[in-house]
Amino acid sequence: MLMCRTMSSSAGIQIPNRLPLLLTHEGVLLPGSTVRFSVDSPRNMQLVSQRLLKGTSLKSTIIGVIPNTRDPEHDTDDLPTLHKIGTAGIAVQVVGSNWPKPHYTLLITGLCRFTVTSQLQERPFVLAEVEQLDKLEQYTTPVPEGVTAEDGELGELSQKFYHAAVQLLGMLDMSVPVVAKFRRLLDSLPRETLPDVVASMIRTSNKEKLQVLDALSLEERFKKALPMLNRQIEGLKLLQKTRKRSPDNEKRVLSVRKGGVLPGRQFNLDEEDEDEDGNDTAALERKVHGANMPEAALKVCLKELKRLKKMPQSMPEHALTRNYLDLMVELPWSKSTKDCLDIGAARTLLDNDHYAMDKLKRRVLEYLAVRQLKTTLKGPILCFVGPPGVGKTSVGRSIARTLGREFHRIALGGVCDQSDIRGHRRTYVGSMPGRIINGLKTVGVNNPVFLLDEVDKLGKSLQGDPAAALLEVLDPEQNHSFTDHYLNVAFDLSQVLFIATANTTASIPPALLDRMEVLQVPGYTQEEKVEIAHRHLIPNQLEQHGLTPQQLHIPQDTTQNIISRYTREAGVRSLERKIGAICRAVAVKVAEGHRVAKTEEAVTPEGSTQQGDTAAPPEMPILIDHIALKDILGLPLFEMEVSERLTLPGVALGLAWTPLGGEIMFVEASRTEGEGQLTLTGQLGDVMKESAHLAISWLRANAKTYQLTNITGGSDPLEGTDIHLHFPAGAVTKDGPSAGVTIVTCLASLFSGRLVRSDVAMTGEITLRGLVLPVGGIKDKILAAHRAGVKRVILPKRNEKDLEELPANVQVDLDFVTAGNLDEVLNAAIDGGFPGTARSCTQPQLSSKL
Ligand code: ADP
Repeated sequence: MLMCRTMSSSAGIQIPNRLPLLLTHEGVLLPGSTVRFSVDSPRNMQLVSQRLLKGTSLKSTIIGVIPNTRDPEHDTDDLPTLHKIGTAGIAVQVVGSNWPKPHYTLLITGLCRFTVTSQLQERPFVLAEVEQLDKLEQYTTPVPEGVTAEDGELGELSQKFYHAAVQLLGMLDMSVPVVAKFRRLLDSLPRETLPDVVASMIRTSNKEKLQVLDALSLEERFKKALPMLNRQIEGLKLLQKTRKRSPDNEKRVLSVRKGGVLPGRQFNLDEEDEDEDGNDTAALERKVHGANMPEAALKVCLKELKRLKKMPQSMPEHALTRNYLDLMVELPWSKSTKDCLDIGAARTLLDNDHYAMDKLKRRVLEYLAVRQLKTTLKGPILCFVGPPGVGKTSVGRSIARTLGREFHRIALGGVCDQSDIRGHRRTYVGSMPGRIINGLKTVGVNNPVFLLDEVDKLGKSLQGDPAAALLEVLDPEQNHSFTDHYLNVAFDLSQVLFIATANTTASIPPALLDRMEVLQVPGYTQEEKVEIAHRHLIPNQLEQHGLTPQQLHIPQDTTQNIISRYTREAGVRSLERKIGAICRAVAVKVAEGHRVAKTEEAVTPEGSTQQGDTAAPPEMPILIDHIALKDILGLPLFEMEVSERLTLPGVALGLAWTPLGGEIMFVEASRTEGEGQLTLTGQLGDVMKESAHLAISWLRANAKTYQLTNITGGSDPLEGTDIHLHFPAGAVTKDGPSAGVTIVTCLASLFSGRLVRSDVAMTGEITLRGLVLPVGGIKDKILAAHRAGVKRVILPKRNEKDLEELPANVQVDLDFVTAGNLDEVLNAAIDGGFPGTARSCTQPQLSSKL
């Protein structure tokens, strides 16, 4: 018990008489052992974030660990009764993570037992008045030779226990340094500490550890722990008898679970690292000199090294300093790869890796070419913006390959703490470097391609704005001396090539957006997807599943079927997954086929084949037709529902834009007798609600022209009528002005009792005077309409220029109506139009804007 001894010898440190309590129901911390706890319940999390991470003194890292007590799931729940005895411990390490949910991992070294005398607070974490039970001073008694003064039964017991422990260690391989070290420790440890230390190292259940913890008198503690120790010895004897003596086995016996740890240091017998400390630091010193780091960094390292040499190994800070130095020597201060850029080859590589996306590829090549001519280019950062699964990451990876550079992806989605980017200061418990420095350590060179994924999903919190930190990373004026808080010395990032990706530019912080050149990557058309599937996705998936084209064949019309009936997305990610599913199913068949073929079994088909005519082994290649597709992927997820849903008056099809690409959106309306009220449902934003009011006002004003009536045939559509407008499809919040024309069309259909054409979709903002204003995201919206099988798209006249960007086949397949006012919209949308109305509505053709 190095720690206990050092602490007690320095005038017997007392634990504070008020301790924050960590409630655990898994794992028992015994004094003198070190245990890792994972915490994710509310009070425990609060304890970590508000106490451990905030505190600066050594005292604030001391907490009470209460075993066998579950922290309630909500902090509003009452506390259960606390286990009466706990262990005060010192938190030597805190590591936080957000995956799969927010939690902390604590490494705690036990100091002594305590009991709770009164609870002071329950929230945000439990704080209690405690009474120290083990007196640290009592452990200072020197190692007694033979039976000691307090002899009697206790002396005998402790003697017995000591001998058993010696016996156990004697059965282990002394050449394992940790065993040897423990053997030495055994002699220098005060006997009183042995039950705790040994019980935490040998194989014991939590229940048994709890018994040892609860044993307050030393005598009882020895009595509880001795049988466990003997059991371990017997077990080991048995093992050695049954198996041939091999050092491996022996090692395993003591490679006890998580619990078995020496203070401040994981006790792991598989670890062969226990070189003498001196040798260690000498090696480290050599590495420090060999790391080729800049002057300033070298100075810091040498200073830390000097401190390290003076520190005893058992001090928690020893490990921290050591980790710091290890990181410093590992960083690629001056290691880099050589760029090998050949534009011709780059073009071929990009073309080979990616189908379509010509505009993007062209711009990327320009960018690379300029870099080649001017290597010191401080150009803008490329930012690929588009829906998921359109190949943004994949292009980034190709760029790294064309340059012959290392590639590293940094996911920024959900990052809301600036220290994620810039690291924690080393004064923090559990501090670590940020993702940039970590990434550099991973790739091992200082000029990799870093893909900053999802910059639009950066969060913001009280822990500082990560966008500001990122700005510093990306700014060519500053990033040659980027200072991570953990490193605390500058690292030159100017050789790193940064590329960013996002789903939308709307949520990228403006200052960050300003540094970047945005390249839009729109979704793919049906035809492009088929090509991508056959050129890239299918061959890739075949390879990943160990299949060959001779075994599996997916014809084009099957691919088309998957795209239109099993996926509805702008990119190709779920298409890729569906192909993966087919490959897995086929892999099973192929494997089965092999087995049957080998044994040449002529078993009657067990009804496992659906096509009926295939006897085992299946004929190669396995062809995926419609039937097989249904068998593997199940019933189609999407039917061509558009035409079916437009069979009643009061339904129209709009087009919406979301960061995930374009989408079709139904608008439904119904009316009942009432007092002219308008009800809107379907997760709408304010702008959408305003559009609905606008639409109604315009329709009331123009009711005569379009022969719109109320429920009883009156000339004011709203008189004595309640209207309900609904925007179905998902729990997604919909907002934006572009649904204006759709709402007008839907209501006009309802008020006139006439159907909206079943194959038309529309988008456009409206004004009170009936003009149609341009909207954004036209390309994505039209691709969505095309995916959904729509034939005619109505869009604002001023969006006509956007049509040029569409792929040729979409232009051919769709009929576009560009409308300047609502009259043109209604004539194009309602079945049969409104003959003779065109004139009446042309008067507000003023050039005024709004
Ligand atoms: P994103 O980063 O845009 O979400 P990914 O780069 O992860 O998308 O792409 C998803 C998958 O689709 C990858 O396997 C990628 O290779 C493939 N893919 C996407 N677009 C293309 C394309 N144009 N040509 C070939 N493969 C593509």
